[in-house]
Amino acid sequence: MVRYEVKKFKGIINKLKCIDSWFWCAYTVNPYNGCAHDCIYCDGRTRKYNMHSDFEETIFVKKGAAEALDKKIRQSRTMLPDVVSMGGVCDAYQPAEVEYKVTRGILEVLHEHRFPIFLLTKSDLITRDLDVIAAINDRSWATVACTVTTVDDVLAMVLEPGASLPSKRFAALAKVKREHPAIQTGVCAMPIIPYLEDSDDQIDALAARTKETGADFLIFAPGVSMRDQQASYMLRKLQAAFPREHDLFMKTYMADEAFKARWTRDMNAKILTACKKYNLAIRAKRFIPSDHRKHNYTIAERLLNKSYEAQLAGKQWKAYFWAGHGVQMLEESIVDVHARGGLPGIKCMTAVIAGEITPWIPRRQGLDRFLPGKAVE
Ligand code: SF4
Repeated sequence: MVRYEVKKFKGIINKLKCIDSWFWCAYTVNPYNGCAHDCIYCDGRTRKYNMHSDFEETIFVKKGAAEALDKKIRQSRTMLPDVVSMGGVCDAYQPAEVEYKVTRGILEVLHEHRFPIFLLTKSDLITRDLDVIAAINDRSWATVACTVTTVDDVLAMVLEPGASLPSKRFAALAKVKREHPAIQTGVCAMPIIPYLEDSDDQIDALAARTKETGADFLIFAPGVSMRDQQASYMLRKLQAAFPREHDLFMKTYMADEAFKARWTRDMNAKILTACKKYNLAIRAKRFIPSDHRKHNYTIAERLLNKSYEAQLAGKQWKAYFWAGHGVQMLEESIVDVHARGGLPGIKCMTAVIAGEITPWIPRRQGLDRFLPGKAVE
């Protein structure tokens, strides 16, 4: 039996130190503490998030969250509009949202302040808020994604007992795309549990169903993180529901690092092949602001995507990754940095990568090229 407690919390929005290159978010907001979706693998139970022990049974509803966010944005001199990801250690559209509407209130505030959003959920309740999501997309940018780890509704009832069935999540995504084609949509296949969700047929069906919704991307992270109390919760549930798969999982994925690395590599290749077959992007497109960050964000996106592709191919990826973050963190336009010969001074930039990105940087036009600190549009 889930218990709800309405409570005031300090601080509603969290600014990330580094951009998240899966969801391209710079901020996170958790409208609730705890999550009644009760996924057996939920990373929110990990000790580092400091959640209460009955995470799936007691849900704290953040009282006054929208007002607090509005005040925070109004008072801040440094908060530039950038992508806000809702949830992370909770699902913003878990059952509590039907009654409390904390997520909806937050979306209305973000819309007013022109903040873009990345929504990731396992609930079809998200379609209730399509009006405000579409308004945000018209004004700035919105992406709607559903996590789907299996297309099998019966299996999902055990793995994600409180969430909408995968068939309903696909239907929700199809509705978003049908009614608002300009909104970017996609599926996040993360985690994928070995022996339960990793067969060729399951992966092919996952990509096929994603495509049928009209989605733009399928992003994936096969495997499952296993840490402290999250690991013990998951293993207990796995053993009770799937003793054979539990034993296999313990003997291989949990016990043998070489097996785990091989399995992860093979799964990445399998999902990549399915994405190619169904013409699905493996990364979401990012929000590009129109101010001085415009070219920085475009170039950082290209570098971070290159890093990811290299990682999938088993190649060196860290140089692109850190150079991408170096460009992302610039406080002035890369056009100006380049104009004064400053590319080598960007944090973590190598000479090779500086040479590679130079053709990507637009040149100043006409007399502007003689002015200091004047970026091109
Ligand atoms: S929906 Fe997300 S936050 Fe909620 S229990 Fe599942 S994994 Fe955890």
